[in-house]
Amino acid sequence: SNKNEKKVDYKFYDSNLNVILLQKAKIENRLRNAIENNELRLHYQPQVNLNTGEVIGVEALIRWQNSELGHVSPGEFIPIAEESGLIKPIGKWVLQTACKQNKAWQDAGLPPMNMSVNVSRSQLFNKGFLNTVNQVIERTQLDPKYLELEITESSRNDIEELISMLKQLKEIGFKIALDDFGTGYSSLSILDDIPLDNLKIDRSFIQDISKDKNKTALVKNIINIGNDLNLNIIAEGIETTEQHNFLKQNNCNIGQGYLFERPVSGEKIEQLLNVNKVS
Ligand code: C2E
Ligand code: MG
Ligand code: MG
Ligand code: MG
Repeated sequence: SNKNEKKVDYKFYDSNLNVILLQKAKIENRLRNAIENNELRLHYQPQVNLNTGEVIGVEALIRWQNSELGHVSPGEFIPIAEESGLIKPIGKWVLQTACKQNKAWQDAGLPPMNMSVNVSRSQLFNKGFLNTVNQVIERTQLDPKYLELEITESSRNDIEELISMLKQLKEIGFKIALDDFGTGYSSLSILDDIPLDNLKIDRSFIQDISKDKNKTALVKNIINIGNDLNLNIIAEGIETTEQHNFLKQNNCNIGQGYLFERPVSGEKIEQLLNVNKVS
């Protein structure tokens, strides 16, 4: 009967929820020791000049390999790190590792380039964040202009706090990028309200280029608005030459994506840059 089905559905849902909660608890528990157990790595994805093919920077993307859980993707464990407060030590580890790597490349004689680091909202609004970045810069001796912080769209209620924090970071000399642009629900005025250097168009828009007329029109216009506001536009997730050509033709000058390179180890980046080095 109807009543019975409902009962079964409810139980199914309940046990499913339990499995999810258990898995989250397990991830959090394992993540707690990930730094000291040396389980975290950074991979780097090249940011490419779409007209010349030159690598102008890299984005650091965290990787976690645990003996029991295997590879866990950042999409899965970063939200858990945010909820549990573990994002604070992990975020600091990411900043330290990325800056140290970028400085090491410069010291090895490679042309100086941008290093982009993703920063979670909870990390950015943590009281110790400015201290952390200052400490990292002091320890690694990286010129702050070679570090870019990637943030995501704001909810309306923390916009004032965001502007104030970003101004302080810009004063130190960091660059700021707005990541995943187009996926949130903030108004276009955010582009004028917050101090920005780069605007990253989300992969979901790039995927639909030439497939979806409306999305294609949106991409064109986002690029135009960004260029008018003197922002660099970075297209995320370029996978086809068709997407690449469209972006070039429409004045988007920087991109990332599997068409050029997946996120790879620091050693691999070094090889790539040495091969392409013009001397
Ligand atoms: P994101 O910052 O938007 O990074 C882009 C994601 O798209 C990365 O996934 C990258 O590997 C993937 N990607 C790049 N090019 C392509 C492509 O051509 N096709 C497809 N299908 N995917 C592409 P990843 O590494 O799994 O990271 C997912 C998200 O996790 C990131 O999105 C970022 O929000 C977060 N994340 C990663 N590392 C960190 C970190 O160190 N700290 C913080 N707070 N968040 C991080
Ligand atoms: Mg990013
Ligand atoms: Mg993104
Ligand atoms: Mg994304």
